[in-house]
Amino acid sequence: MSDAVDDDTFNQLRDMIQRFVTERLVPNEHRLEIDDEIPEEIVDEMRQLGLFGLTIPPEYGGIGLNARQETQIAQIFGHTALAFRSLLATNIGIGARGLIFEGTDEQKQQYLPSLASGELICAFALTEPDTGSDPANLTTRAVRDGDDYLISGTKRYITNAERAGLFTVMARSEPDKPGADAISAFLVPRDTPGVTIGKKDRKMGQRGTTTSDVMFDNVRVPASAIIGHQPGRGFRLAMRVLDRGRIHIAALATGACDRLITEMVNYAKERRQFGKAIAEYQLIQAMIADSYTEYRASKALVEETAAIYDANGAARTEASAAKYFATEAVGRVADRAVQVHGGAGYMSEYAVERFYRDVRLMRIYEGTSQIQQLLIARQVLKGEG
Ligand SMILES: Cc1cc2nc3c(=O)[nH]c(=O)nc-3n(C[C@H](O)[C@H](O)[C@H](O)COP(=O)(O)OP(=O)(O)OC[C@H]3O[C@@H](n4cnc5c(N)ncnc54)[C@H](O)[C@@H]3O)c2cc1C
Repeated sequence: MSDAVDDDTFNQLRDMIQRFVTERLVPNEHRLEIDDEIPEEIVDEMRQLGLFGLTIPPEYGGIGLNARQETQIAQIFGHTALAFRSLLATNIGIGARGLIFEGTDEQKQQYLPSLASGELICAFALTEPDTGSDPANLTTRAVRDGDDYLISGTKRYITNAERAGLFTVMARSEPDKPGADAISAFLVPRDTPGVTIGKKDRKMGQRGTTTSDVMFDNVRVPASAIIGHQPGRGFRLAMRVLDRGRIHIAALATGACDRLITEMVNYAKERRQFGKAIAEYQLIQAMIADSYTEYRASKALVEETAAIYDANGAARTEASAAKYFATEAVGRVADRAVQVHGGAGYMSEYAVERFYRDVRLMRIYEGTSQIQQLLIARQVLKGEG
């Protein structure tokens, strides 16, 4: 069903990204943490490698990975500080995906080539101060005014807002329709009068990524700014975008498990207590074995889910299950990794301390674990799991 890059090209790309992560990103993790900023030379290298266009179709200047290929790359990015991937994430995922799914050809021509090159960053603006898990109740409004709409409202925790030149904004535009059917997805350039970016949020982890509020004050956009020129489709489109995004997050979590196991094993072999390497103690081995088992289970679930997505163009319940399992698993693995390191695991010069904080977010964004549970249960109870 989905297009894919041929195997040889993909293998070369995967190896190249693996080298880039190992040789360029991993050595810069500590600097990223201290500076709370991705070095500009690394952003340039990411652009040159085409990483901002990994999932954008080739006819619009991207690489066009399918879900299986994308998850392999996301796993590689899980091996390093998660902020690096976060910079790419909105262009290869939630920010651009709605446009790829349902944009008109003209909308795609207008934005996708510069998103693929990384010259333009886009962000996904769904969450609001009073609506997170329940976005069908969002209150940002788009009021019709002749051939235009005037958008007003505040969006919260918007990843990459600071760098974004374009926002996909979900707003209530159809006053005659109830709930989710009233929501449309608008493409709003940042330089439109009335758009203001709030101050950078101070976060628990993923230093180097930014989130901020984005305020819209009577922002005038033409009706043609609605994705696909289809008013009232915004909520469903956002949910479709998040379904695919959840497979990506599950893959990222799986990659992080693998890195954490490597850190655990290396430390356990080096650290000696009571005259022996701690790796020789069965209580340490149990933590390694449990982590490895959860890693393999996450990996298998991600691979299966991505294959279902590529075959059917959707994998709703499976994507929720994969995200739920893999992100909860990486939380447990990160906790064990800190434990295996003892006091060192609490110290910031060890990668596990940073990973412990970074991976915490995965259970919250793109649908919390509780929301995944509700989605899974709803589908399974309907007999559609
Ligand atoms: C760093 C970061 C980056 C983000 N990036 C973006 C972005 O780029 N774009 C964007 O639009 N959003 C973004 N978000 C927002 C994110 O998706 C939301 O924070 C998330 O969906 C949860 O919403 P909330 O924070 O309002 O929590 P709430 O919805 O208030 O949830 C609070 C708690 O209640 C639980 N809960 C809620 N409803 C139920 C229920 N029915 N049953 C049981 N439990 C329930 C939740 O699971 C959670 O434990 C980001 C968030 C963070 C922290």
